[in-house]
Amino acid sequence: MKRITHWIGGKPWTGTAERQGDVFDPASGELSGHVDFAAADDADAAVAAASEAFAAWRDTSLAKRANILFAFRELLVRNRDELAALISSEHGKVRSDAAGEVARGLEVVEFACGIPHLLKGGFSENVSTRVDSYSIRQPLGVVAGITPFNFPAMVPMWMFPVAIAAGNTFVLKPSEKDPSTSIRLAELWREAGLPDGVFNVVHGDKVAVDTLLTHPDVRAVSFVGSTPIARYVYETGTAHGKRVQALGGAKNHMLVLPDADLDLAADAAVSAGFGSAGERCMAISVVVAVDPVGDELVAKIKERVAGLTVGPGSETASEMGPLVTRQHRDKVVSYLDGGVAQGATLAVDGRSHAVPAGDGFWLGPTVLDHVTAEMDCYRDEIFGPVLSVVRAGSYDDGMALIAANPYGNGTAIFTNDGGAARRFQNEVEVGMIGVNVPIPVPMAYYSFGGWKASLFGDTHVHGTEGVHFYTRGKVVTARWLDPGHGGVNLGFPTNG
Ligand code: NAD
Repeated sequence: MKRITHWIGGKPWTGTAERQGDVFDPASGELSGHVDFAAADDADAAVAAASEAFAAWRDTSLAKRANILFAFRELLVRNRDELAALISSEHGKVRSDAAGEVARGLEVVEFACGIPHLLKGGFSENVSTRVDSYSIRQPLGVVAGITPFNFPAMVPMWMFPVAIAAGNTFVLKPSEKDPSTSIRLAELWREAGLPDGVFNVVHGDKVAVDTLLTHPDVRAVSFVGSTPIARYVYETGTAHGKRVQALGGAKNHMLVLPDADLDLAADAAVSAGFGSAGERCMAISVVVAVDPVGDELVAKIKERVAGLTVGPGSETASEMGPLVTRQHRDKVVSYLDGGVAQGATLAVDGRSHAVPAGDGFWLGPTVLDHVTAEMDCYRDEIFGPVLSVVRAGSYDDGMALIAANPYGNGTAIFTNDGGAARRFQNEVEVGMIGVNVPIPVPMAYYSFGGWKASLFGDTHVHGTEGVHFYTRGKVVTARWLDPGHGGVNLGFPTNG
């Protein structure tokens, strides 16, 4: 039975944990390991290691920092398959999907390799006579990341490559459900030459999170997870004087207009609804079919769902794996009967889909049709392989539905009408928009984040906003002595 422990000051922690959590292989349902849960002292030790490393790291040249990032990038590429297998063994997602998340994290590392350019400030000569002014951006100090189970590699890599490249030191608190990937990433950082203490990992639950949120030496916190915890992290962190970006849950709508290519839309709905068993914050969970396309679209979705292969992530034929835990699977299943009791139709019942025998956390892809905004299956974030279809009378009805939804992470429109697509991207209150693209995850050099209950704070992750989040600005106004200097003047400085 493997034991997963913290990574502090460049090495695994050697203490004895008072509390541990269970880690499962979702495909077999078997217990595969135990993860140590940090006590406050352990989280304090990680922050202390990060604090100690900060002074030297912030003064390390941009060239040296970029070189370490390049080395880390090479190691990620070389170990991509091994990382994918590790992710799949604890999360359940199929290996190709796990390799995909490593690839998207890698793109943020590549973005952060450009840190010398990203940190360039401005310089203005002669803002006043013989006075120059320039802006610089400096790291904050120790920053923390708290991440969810569904992307154990990619979501942490939305954060730490940029934070570390900018000169901060980092403490990661990954999900306790699939904790091993973070430790493998720590080992790769060490191999890449990152000084001890610049990247640390503490495992655990609320105790670790609360210690980081209230610790006086932690300057900023990035969080990704469910909306109630995101709100809590934002409120607690900011009350303790920290800069916080907290990304929350989602309910992503795909609006299908009558002129859309329905085959393209059905392919997209199935791919975006059931990829990673729907455990993606950018998964499509609601298809809004604008009259009269509903019946035809549902028929095309059903046809495609019937052919999906559900199986262990380790088998190349598998297109969809199990859910992350038994409890989560059971909760997702409860929405099937719940939806029907509230008036929805089970167009596809995932409980009858072929899944492997045994005790794994399986549920086949499910389609609930004729869903309405009052039903729990619409209101709640199910976070599983359940696609809800809502019928809408018009574009405006569809837009009203999206506007009334509390979440605003991602959305997509499927249409061949450029004018409708343009109007949609202009007026919809959502952070990430797809036009005939179902999972519009921004590239690393743009910033990722939602609106409304999908984000607490002002700043999205990675891209320019990520660089800004992990740095603070300074402006220097300088006059070097020359024969024109001198003289006392108590007036407010004006420029002449
Ligand atoms: P979660 O909110 O349960 O957990 C996220 C993190 O918070 C974990 O590290 C967990 O240990 C910690 N945590 C849990 N309960 C806590 C508590 N009471 N106090 C302090 N810390 C606590 O989320 P999850 O189930 O791991 O992940 C799925 C959720 O994440 C979904 O809601 C999904 O939409 C969301 N998500 C959002 C995005 C995004 O970009 N907006 C991306 C990925 C996942």
